[in-house]
Amino acid sequence: MMLPAPRPSILDIEPYVGGESKLAGVNRVIKLSSNEGAFGPSPKAIEAFRSVAEEIHRYPDGGAGKLREAIGARFGLDPARIVCGAGSDDLLCQLALVFGGEGTETIQTEHGFLMYGIFSRYAGSAVLKAPERERTADVDAILALVTPRTKVVFLANPNNPTGSYIPAEEVHRLRARLPEDVVLVLDGAYAEYVDAPDWTPGTELVEAGTNTVMTRTFSKMFGMGGLRLGWCYAPAHIVDLLNRVRGPFNASVPAQAAGIAALSDRAHFERSLAHNSECRAWTTAELRAAGVKVAPSVGNFVLADMAASGRDVVAADAYLRARGIIVRRVAGYGLPDCLRITIGTSEEMRLCCAAMAEFMASGQGLLAAGATPNQTGTAA
Ligand SMILES: *Cc1c(COP(=O)(O)O)cnc(C)c1O
Repeated sequence: MMLPAPRPSILDIEPYVGGESKLAGVNRVIKLSSNEGAFGPSPKAIEAFRSVAEEIHRYPDGGAGKLREAIGARFGLDPARIVCGAGSDDLLCQLALVFGGEGTETIQTEHGFLMYGIFSRYAGSAVLKAPERERTADVDAILALVTPRTKVVFLANPNNPTGSYIPAEEVHRLRARLPEDVVLVLDGAYAEYVDAPDWTPGTELVEAGTNTVMTRTFSKMFGMGGLRLGWCYAPAHIVDLLNRVRGPFNASVPAQAAGIAALSDRAHFERSLAHNSECRAWTTAELRAAGVKVAPSVGNFVLADMAASGRDVVAADAYLRARGIIVRRVAGYGLPDCLRITIGTSEEMRLCCAAMAEFMASGQGLLAAGATPNQTGTAA
């Protein structure tokens, strides 16, 4: 039998595996595995979603005009330079396809978001990974990988799953040293959570140049991951390119309506932000007090290094699961000994931290000094 053959590079792609949401035999699951906003969507977004139920036989506004106006007003951006999509993944994919292709290369960081590699390979591009320093993007290491074949640099800032970021000065230095014809994609999936004064979303680079794109999402802070809505802010000629290739109706009627309503609910936003900053600090302190090594994070999650805490990651994960708590193994990100823990509600984090403290105190999964059992990545 002759199977229809894909382009060869498609077979190099490992399917993305999302955070799990179910545990056999557990009624109440505490899902801290996908960085979904702790408070869920704004009630205004839910109401707007319901209010368009009878209109879903109509195609959406393909240009998402009102939504782009609302995004522009909310974040102080020019609506003409905004393109919406079915999640920011949609836009990351279009960017990889528009600029990539056989014989080209894209660069991402060592522990960068997995989808950059998947979309790049889909486009036919080779993927180069720049080593990080202390699990933080290293501008010089990225620059060292640039060749005449480089087309796109993908940088999540802050990064998932490490929670680290590089300051504005470093982002500017990266842009200044990259060749002019290389697109720098600044993925701001966690932009709304950042409270560090020296960070930038990159607006000034998008507006001053021809080669920087910022991507953003409604999936994290706005709690609308199930609806699939994202956007990017790009120079005019890149907006034009994206508008040629994107799905003409890639932001649905309910997504556009809910997105506009979500942006209008400042109180929900401020509550979500205050909760995250406070609860992230509390969670970090609790875990550290229990002996768990936790890196500083500016996102809505923290990364716990179990091997550095002297414990086996598989045992820790199993202990939490037995108590209905699902966090994320991140071996696929080159971090086989770490667990990424999303900041949920205060009650969820109390239960999670208590379970982790019990695990640490129990002596289960204790590693012999210096052992790093999962260095080669035994689990996905
Ligand atoms: C969650 C996430 C995204 C994309 O989310 P969408 O739901 O597709 O908007 C993009 N980048 C990073 C780093 C993420 O963690």
